[in-house]
Amino acid sequence: MTTTTGVVTVPFLDLRASTGDLRADLDAAMARVLDRGVYVLGPEVESFEAAWALYTDSRYCVGVGTGLSAIELALRAVGVKPGGEVIVPGNTYIATWLAVTNIGASVVPVEPEPTTYLLDADRVEEMITPRTAAILPVHLYGQAADMAGLSVVARRHGLPVVIDGAQAHGVRWEPWELQPDATAWSFYPSKNLGALGDGGAVTTRSRSVAEHIGLSRNYGSGSKNVHEEIGTNSRLDELQAAILGVKLARLDEWNERRRRIAGRYLEALDPSVVGLPRVPADTTPVWHLFVVRSPHRDRLQQHLADRGVTTLVHYPIPPHRQNAYRATALAEASLPISERLHREILSLPLHPHMRPEEVEAVIDAVNSFAVSDVAGG
Ligand SMILES: *Cc1c(COP(=O)(O)O)cnc(C)c1O
Repeated sequence: MTTTTGVVTVPFLDLRASTGDLRADLDAAMARVLDRGVYVLGPEVESFEAAWALYTDSRYCVGVGTGLSAIELALRAVGVKPGGEVIVPGNTYIATWLAVTNIGASVVPVEPEPTTYLLDADRVEEMITPRTAAILPVHLYGQAADMAGLSVVARRHGLPVVIDGAQAHGVRWEPWELQPDATAWSFYPSKNLGALGDGGAVTTRSRSVAEHIGLSRNYGSGSKNVHEEIGTNSRLDELQAAILGVKLARLDEWNERRRRIAGRYLEALDPSVVGLPRVPADTTPVWHLFVVRSPHRDRLQQHLADRGVTTLVHYPIPPHRQNAYRATALAEASLPISERLHREILSLPLHPHMRPEEVEAVIDAVNSFAVSDVAGG
């Protein structure tokens, strides 16, 4: 965007731009659903499930209602029971924790590696107890969790791994054979692959995990009026599935644009001004967010706002400091790395429809932040 004074203002995200050039295809997909008259668990969901299973190189995909319920259903399907402990990152969106709490299991938070922001496999192993039921890493900000390190720990202790992939549609790592037992996806509109409302899915290479979730998302029922278990209602709907099918065709192109912008940030942002994210070896990130660090985060954010650059913090309050957990022992958890990150992190604008001059405006604005701005009071 350019104002009348010629100053470039950079919004954080422009969701309308992502549907703009797909408008005709989206209209056709929605019309197809309206004309067919099937709105829940029909051919659009089946076809998107097949496409997403193929894209993620999983054998199975089950569409569900939200990312949160995808995590809950995946944890239950791999055998997590009430009272079981689930190891999660201390620094994540609260949904990762809520999924564990909502199924009656216990959150065991672990600190991240501070430059990738990702779960630290060595620290995970230290927290394993006889009650540990699963490890739940997050591909946070679109960077691949340490699948090599985590797989070794999981195998050594016979534990299932469920990934929270809500921020990482299209992420890859080597060796690719190291796959989790299940991955939970969110299709919330602002995700790399987003619907026009809520949606989610679980992908897995395990037929039994897929079958379990296929029942539990639909009242425990596989065939009409026959209920095998105490299930829930969490179904991806036909309209969202049709929309996701259209947008999936663009995901690689959009992720490639995100990588180009991130590449420009990594080469041009001054590392003496902000801490830059480190990309782990043998991984291909999808840059859901580009998160930098500064001990003067709030001043930096104001400095950028003064120059027309909108930034956000993902997330300002760590889950253990949220009121939601204040009455639990988690409120007393000692997570100094997570707490410091939540104080220092700042997400810069990065989305597939950013124009080059917007990217350069962000770079100039960040690099012009001087310690004198901080000393200035
Ligand atoms: C968005 C998100 C979720 C939750 O997804 P919903 O579809 O909003 O329920 C879970 N975990 C992470 C890391 C997320 O970013």
